[in-house]
Amino acid sequence: MSPTTPVTLAVTSEMMAKYEPVIGLEVHVQLKTKTKAFCACSTQFGDPPNSNTCPVCLGLPGALPVLNRAARDLAVRAALALGCKIQERSVFARKNYFYPDLPKGYQISQYELPLALEGSLEIEVDGAKKKIGITRVHMEEDAAKNLHEGFPDSDRWSYIDYNRCGMPLIEIVSEPDIRTPAEAYSYLTTLKQILEYTDVSDCNMEEGSLRCDANVSVRLRGASKFGTKVEAKNLNSFRYLAHALEYEIERQIGVLESGGTITQETRLWNVAAGRTESMRSKEFAHDYRYFPDPDLLPVSAAPALVEQVRREMPELPGAKRARFIADYGISAYDAGVLTSTRELASYFEAVVRAGANAKSAASWISVELLRRLNDAGKTIEECPVAPEALAELLGVVERGEITAASGKKVFSEMFDTGKKPAEIITAGGLAQISDSSAIETIARAIVAKSPDNVAKYKTGNEGVFKFFVGQVMRETKGQANPQIVNAILKRVLAEA
Ligand code: ADP
Ligand code: ZN
Ligand code: MG
Repeated sequence: MSPTTPVTLAVTSEMMAKYEPVIGLEVHVQLKTKTKAFCACSTQFGDPPNSNTCPVCLGLPGALPVLNRAARDLAVRAALALGCKIQERSVFARKNYFYPDLPKGYQISQYELPLALEGSLEIEVDGAKKKIGITRVHMEEDAAKNLHEGFPDSDRWSYIDYNRCGMPLIEIVSEPDIRTPAEAYSYLTTLKQILEYTDVSDCNMEEGSLRCDANVSVRLRGASKFGTKVEAKNLNSFRYLAHALEYEIERQIGVLESGGTITQETRLWNVAAGRTESMRSKEFAHDYRYFPDPDLLPVSAAPALVEQVRREMPELPGAKRARFIADYGISAYDAGVLTSTRELASYFEAVVRAGANAKSAASWISVELLRRLNDAGKTIEECPVAPEALAELLGVVERGEITAASGKKVFSEMFDTGKKPAEIITAGGLAQISDSSAIETIARAIVAKSPDNVAKYKTGNEGVFKFFVGQVMRETKGQANPQIVNAILKRVLAEA
């Protein structure tokens, strides 16, 4: 039977349980520099096709590349954030292959001597933490973008946009330490968060600045040797990564269970069909005829440079989470939510700096604010409520000047109109009624109107008390201070 014969066998959960998946990810990340890796062309996304090109990135004869130092520094920063050992000297090689998106006929990439080695990333799945090894981080350039669709003559021609050619990338290669699609998902999420926090990349998957290839194999549980791996490409969303892995794991188990063998190959995730499809048989390193690029000097990352990059490293998500728990006394869960992006974390800290109680700031931001932002499809940077205004509102609620329920209404209006809390409270007459005599007048009137319920209360029916509280709250439009209402009602009913 041919190993690529489509699986006709139904894969049962018993079969699935016999095997263990083994996964390693290769992630390409575009570095957030102003100019390309080896020339001065702009990296601006969305510019007119082929407008950001020059003799260097078009591979014209005689043009010489010069490494962009900003790209090197960001690559070092990423490698340090992933706990890698930085190699003081690394070397660019030529990876030769022929394809129209590569005008030089080779891609400049690090091969034998990469920038950094031996890092790790801690992931969390269902509360369980696990370390995934990082084999290497190396620098390389991107290729151009082939456009096979969207033109009137797309049935006959393909177009190429060279703007992306020569963009600075790093490739982050994981060890085959990942065991489930959920772990792969968590790895990519955690990695993305670190790269965003450190400003290494904007990690925009739709624009292609974060791309992930997944290597996957299966082996019988308990086996010590890995199975033959397949590389799945075209996984340009978190969802596709998880789906492609689930599909591929089941496909491989089906092939093995029906007596076949796995061929080492590259498969493409077909989004519409929801399956991986064979693209090409696996290429080997020798196919690429790698050799050191004679046009480029070795990359130097001297200890002094590495130290400087380390000093300038922004606080990483894990460290920020730990600090939030320790300094603000908030729960691990809230700390996780509030540090999900650097911008949200600084919003929270700005609210606290403006005088708010940290715990109530944490809960208002993670519940009310995030819900409104989510409904409005806005990011925290577009939040209409300034941190100082939220802090002011929380103070007003804390001091009992308005009820928590009114606070939510005020917040909602602040979000819609951008107005200050004081303005909304005054205009809406929302100030909490703590004036005992006003509440007492209302309470007496209500008690006088309900002799039946008073009688029930007197015979020990405690439930009726809630009825009276409800009536007073309704009469005061929910603005009466509940403690005062309770105390006054007890007294008035006792006297009735
Ligand atoms: P190649 O020589 O094909 O480039 P590498 O050994 O360099 O393979 O590994 C490339 C990626 O594949 C890495 O992320 C690695 O963790 C992963 N990988 C290696 N072997 C396996 C395997 N048997 N199953 C799943 N993933 C694997
Ligand atoms: Zn250029
Ligand atoms: Mg390899």
